[in-house]
Amino acid sequence: MKFCKFCGAECKEDATFCPECGKQIGEPTNSVNVYVQPDMTPNNQKSSRSKIAAGLLQIFLGCFGIGRFYTGHTGIAIAQLIVSLCSCGIGSIWGFIDGIVILCTNNFRDAEGKIME
Ligand SMILES: [Zn+2]
Repeated sequence: MKFCKFCGAECKEDATFCPECGKQIGEPTNSVNVYVQPDMTPNNQKSSRSKIAAGLLQIFLGCFGIGRFYTGHTGIAIAQLIVSLCSCGIGSIWGFIDGIVILCTNNFRDAEGKIME
């Protein structure tokens, strides 16, 4: 038995994290069960943004990159805006197609890597 150096709670000898306060109290003891920081795990979090909304915004307002602004992909959004302006609107087909792609992509992720539904 060992004790957490942060809160003094009793911990299992092989514990890596304190069951009381959750702080790391030791190195992972075997490589199979290495603890992965929550922000390092594959991100399966659900986005609060709606994929349908993003896709429709992009189909109707994709010439301004609105759908991409919505998903947080501002770099793409600004590029779409500039392409539309510089091509007198012809380039807005990019935003339109992008909207269809968003709608047709399973597990489409927003700029934070969260899955949009
Ligand atoms: Zn503790």
